[in-house]
Amino acid sequence: MKFDLYATVILDQKKLKPLDYGVPSHMQTDVAEGSRVLVSLRKQVCKGTVLYVRKKSALKSVQPLLEVLMEKQKIPEDLFALANWMSKYYATPLRKCLNCILPSAVRDDKNAKQKIFIKRSISKPKLIGVCAELRAKHPSQASICEEMLKHDNGIFLSDLLNETKVSMSPIETLIKNGILKKELHTIDRTHLMNDEYFQTLPKTLNDEQQACFDSISKSLKSNEFHTHLIHGVTGSGKTEVYLQLMQQAIDDGKSIIMLVPEIALTAQTIERIKGRFQTGVAILHYRLSDGEKLDAWRNIMNGKVNIVVGARSALFSPLSNLGLIIVDEEQDGSFKQTDDMPCYNARDVSIVRAKLNKCVAILGSATPSLESYKNAKEGKFHLNKMTTRAAKSQLPTVSIIDMRLDREGSTHHRFFSQTLLTKMRQRVALGEQVILFLNRRGTYSTLKCEKCEHVLECPHCDCTLTFHKSEHHLSCHLCGYTLTPPPTVCPSCHSGETIKFKAPGTDQIERSLNAMFPDIRTLRMDGDTTRKKGSHDRLFKQFRAGKADVLIGTQMIAKGLHFPSVTLVGVLNSDGSLNIPDFRSFENVFQLITQVSGRAGRSELPGEVIIQSRIPEHDIFKYASTEDYVGFYHSEIKSRKMFHYPPFSHLIKITFSGPEEKATFEFGKAFHEALLTKLPAEFTLTPTVPCSLSKIKDRYRFQFFLKGEKVMIASKLIAKFDAETKRPKDIGVVIDVDPRDSL
Ligand code: ADP
Ligand code: ZN
Ligand code: ZN
Repeated sequence: MKFDLYATVILDQKKLKPLDYGVPSHMQTDVAEGSRVLVSLRKQVCKGTVLYVRKKSALKSVQPLLEVLMEKQKIPEDLFALANWMSKYYATPLRKCLNCILPSAVRDDKNAKQKIFIKRSISKPKLIGVCAELRAKHPSQASICEEMLKHDNGIFLSDLLNETKVSMSPIETLIKNGILKKELHTIDRTHLMNDEYFQTLPKTLNDEQQACFDSISKSLKSNEFHTHLIHGVTGSGKTEVYLQLMQQAIDDGKSIIMLVPEIALTAQTIERIKGRFQTGVAILHYRLSDGEKLDAWRNIMNGKVNIVVGARSALFSPLSNLGLIIVDEEQDGSFKQTDDMPCYNARDVSIVRAKLNKCVAILGSATPSLESYKNAKEGKFHLNKMTTRAAKSQLPTVSIIDMRLDREGSTHHRFFSQTLLTKMRQRVALGEQVILFLNRRGTYSTLKCEKCEHVLECPHCDCTLTFHKSEHHLSCHLCGYTLTPPPTVCPSCHSGETIKFKAPGTDQIERSLNAMFPDIRTLRMDGDTTRKKGSHDRLFKQFRAGKADVLIGTQMIAKGLHFPSVTLVGVLNSDGSLNIPDFRSFENVFQLITQVSGRAGRSELPGEVIIQSRIPEHDIFKYASTEDYVGFYHSEIKSRKMFHYPPFSHLIKITFSGPEEKATFEFGKAFHEALLTKLPAEFTLTPTVPCSLSKIKDRYRFQFFLKGEKVMIASKLIAKFDAETKRPKDIGVVIDVDPRDSL
């Protein structure tokens, strides 16, 4: 068949090169780059995206496109360009990048929730007549008519069945006889306009906030691409600045994306935004069902929404007239996708999307990533500083406790220094609140034999098993394997009574505290206590309402929370992460201590932070205890430069996984060797070695790193090489450009 136009289509599901299809004349006006289409392939109907439309095809005969999916499914131009950029930068096939941008709920569209709606097909007076006629012989039909008379505009079938308590068959009969009719109505499950939030008014900005606002406001007005870094200490009022800039963008008819770390997507954050903007806000979080996601996407497409707040994937919201992208806590690891390709960092992709839209990107943080701060210092980003807390509060005082000296007392005392215990009691006696931070959940994360040093590990993964006292089992936090009850005899040397729990988790800390001070009320927040939907918010509310004196938690409590009566924060083990041999480990510890400290003294009551450590002389504590980011930056950037680590170079991590150890390693090694022969000399490769978690869920894992400056060149080479390499079916390869760590 001959066509005037040909569309090159990339299919969603099939790993094939893009294919040409003819555009039938009646579709010509509807088909463009990014259009979603149905095509046939070997008698199957497939969905795909149009890459481009041309007058010619190299093929002699092509099939016609079957259908253009509804206009609302077209991938907007900027997102289409973004997918192309991601494909190149992250060495990932375009098909996967398109699938990443278009949520599966939208791609499949099977979840458009439709409900049957019943209306009358005859006039009201006629229905009254019919109702009277049916009364004697068909009472159930009559009661349906009666109910219908109460609903002039019709009623959902489910409600009708509920009200009348009849079966389907009398309704079917009435429909067959032309008295009632069925319609399909699409339901919006986002409840956009229903929530009510207490409205807050803009605050008068202080001088530093105002300067920051003015500088960014100027960029917004320019309608040009600009990136601003706001380096503001915890509590400096970054959120207020965001809100006022958002207002300005809205007033100018622009739309906004705000990204926040996954765990900061709490009721408290949502309240602050919805309290200012009552309508047009969509909150996208991972707990949304596919249906809710689809509806939210439609509302964004239709322009009902002009502010989207969410975790990393919210960046791909199809907003038109984008004016502002905000990335709060820009250094946060949750902006990076690591398990699936494309392994993108939403912070970096935000900047590219802002550039494509000639709009403004704001990165905000109390502890910017070294990458961003370096960019700001070199003038690629505008640097805005906020050095004081906004509300009437001071930065907390921080003291470091040497745990090598403070080891007296009972078992319970092992986890707490005397200083921390004394201060905790004092604060609680004054009616103030305390937060204790520990980066480990469960009761104990290690069970170790003191005689032969044997440690109990998961049989499917390369990690230790964690003891959970309330379930009385050992469990693997990677794969969910459990062992009940925990062994009392060492499985290796078979000696009894030498097998001991080590490394306490949040659960044990709570138990110890309760044992020492039965009158202190505790709450615990970690992966175990927040598993159920809504439990997160419930625990926050309880603590905020003063239902507990001490909140014990993991990572989860470090970010963005605002508890006015918390005056003391204790960091129980700060050292663990410092010993991890990763180029970013000092940066991570610095960020964590700063963020946790930021939870103390956020109102008029002065705050205090106690950090327990076995290596208190470490430089990191000097900087963290004074929230001296700039000092930290200068010291850390020196060592990064010396070892040629990011931000002075880029890393690409290539991970191989497979069910057989030897075959996986051999494949990785062959890949490594072949790549090496093609690589320009400016790049280096590390050897292929087992990953630091060398086995997860019975799959063995190996990796190597590429290091170099021109990341696009390397990505292109690797992608090409990966596409050309024949890979056994059971071996997986993940290419991670700019990985979070070098582990
Ligand atoms: P950050 O996000 O920088 O950690 P927040 O935006 O949470 O800081 O602000 C900290 C506190 O200061 C909040 O309670 C906020 O309401 C208050 N605040 C912010 N700006 C002002 C202002 N200009 N005047 C008074 N209070 C302010
Ligand atoms: Zn043993
Ligand atoms: Zn496991």
